[in-house]
Amino acid sequence: MSDAEIAEKLIDGKGFAAGLRARVTEETAELKAAHGIVPGLAAVLVGEDPASQVYVRNKNKQTVEAGMNSLGETLPVDTSQTDLLAEIDKLNKDPAVNGILVQLPLPDQIDPHAVIDAIDPAKDVDGFHLRNVGLLATGRGGMVPCTPLGCLMMLKDRLGDLTGLNAVIVGRSNIVGKPMAQLLLSANCTVTIAHSHTADLPAVCREADILVAAVGRPQMIKGDWIKPGATVIDVGINRVPAAEEGKMRLVGDVAFDDAVKIAGAITPVPGGVGPMTIACLLRNTLVAACIQNGIDVPDI
Ligand code: NDP
Repeated sequence: MSDAEIAEKLIDGKGFAAGLRARVTEETAELKAAHGIVPGLAAVLVGEDPASQVYVRNKNKQTVEAGMNSLGETLPVDTSQTDLLAEIDKLNKDPAVNGILVQLPLPDQIDPHAVIDAIDPAKDVDGFHLRNVGLLATGRGGMVPCTPLGCLMMLKDRLGDLTGLNAVIVGRSNIVGKPMAQLLLSANCTVTIAHSHTADLPAVCREADILVAAVGRPQMIKGDWIKPGATVIDVGINRVPAAEEGKMRLVGDVAFDDAVKIAGAITPVPGGVGPMTIACLLRNTLVAACIQNGIDVPDI
């Protein structure tokens, strides 16, 4: 395949995320000018997990670039559940905070469900609170988890109306697979959720007009598992050794080089789904600020 043919099939998540961030920045400026409101996003990080630190640093930077206030705390790794819940309570009551994000994973002494369920659902910009999970499952809106929301936006941008398409999601986690399935069901797809116990996974994948891989296993989904012309969304982020000794590189859950020859469109890793997650977090924070202040939510 020529570079031009590959480029035509690529879904440019990086560019799409930049466009979404620009729209959020514009609407944030409008909110400030018209109502004097500056959305605030608080990230709570417990401990010093390097990947979480990178994510939170990127999030803080992009929050400020969008014209929002970046708030929040880094707490020591031995923070008790009681102290973390007290911090959440403080943020729930703080009118300057419109969105709260607790960075996962949390240290072992803390029950993540207890923490997520303590966040005010109106400020739960990750969409993980039981109330928001229930609202999504019943098709009644609420805060939608950022990664699947980003995937849906890219799919609609590429394919338009998704009605009637067969969607297969490999992975059933609460943060990616299950909400992705709910969103595609709401978009009138016929949805199959596959997981580690699925019989004949390659055959299931070959039925997919839309294939979403959210597994966490490097290049597990092979080119010949893909239906010709299908749209492939690769959520996976896996570190593998690079050709150069001692270096690492990122790959997705899909064997990209083979898959791109068969698929009609595909997200690369890196530069596909990844950049959309923070862009959608900023979008959710803007939406939360509007709803909390009784202002019409902009269509972004
Ligand atoms: P989880 O580990 O929570 O879930 C993985 C899912 O994959 C499980 O449902 C598991 O099945 C399924 N699975 C594992 N092995 C197989 C297999 N051999 N065959 C079929 N299914 C399998 O992962 P997450 O959902 O949190 O993340 C998935 C990937 O997405 C990771 O690489 C993660 O880094 C990435 N990610 C990327 C984000 C982004 O911003 N781009 C955001 C979030 C995640 P079972 O339930 O049966 O165990």
